Amino acid sequence: MTDPDPAETLFEKIIAREIPADIVHETATTLAFRDISPQAAVHVLIVPKTRYRNVGELASADPALLAELLTTAHHVAELEGLVDGGYRVVFNTGADAGQTVFHVHAHVLGGEQLGHFGRYETQQAQ
Ligand code: 5GP
Repeated sequence: MTDPDPAETLFEKIIAREIPADIVHETATTLAFRDISPQAAVHVLIVPKTRYRNVGELASADPALLAELLTTAHHVAELEGLVDGGYRVVFNTGADAGQTVFHVHAHVLGGEQLGHFGRYETQQAQ
């Protein structure tokens, strides 16, 4: 999976409302919307409105914004009723992790018992 590094990714278009999305929460600096292909009963993506390609780039450039992203992820988990049961926050980073959109995003997954994660063949066997 290569990063073509387009000037604008799908998520900039969602932030600009050029592509529709099921938005669940918005702050001055972040947008949260449901994943189009949910991998759990609840699967919400949290993106900063400013583009960084991955979480490492964001952490280096603007740690305060990364903290806001995680605070927002927890708030979305509260809004979605996930806190008591538990939830997972995932940042896929680069090709081996399966990152497909190169605008950093946190996946918030929950609403049911989640499986283990790790090697590709482990996932296929489930
Ligand atoms: P990644 O694989 O980069 O960690 O996550 C990208 C996510 O974006 C995937 O889970 C994928 O299902 C989701 N996605 C791809 N296209 C769209 C879209 O048009 N709308 C929404 N809401 N999610 C999308």
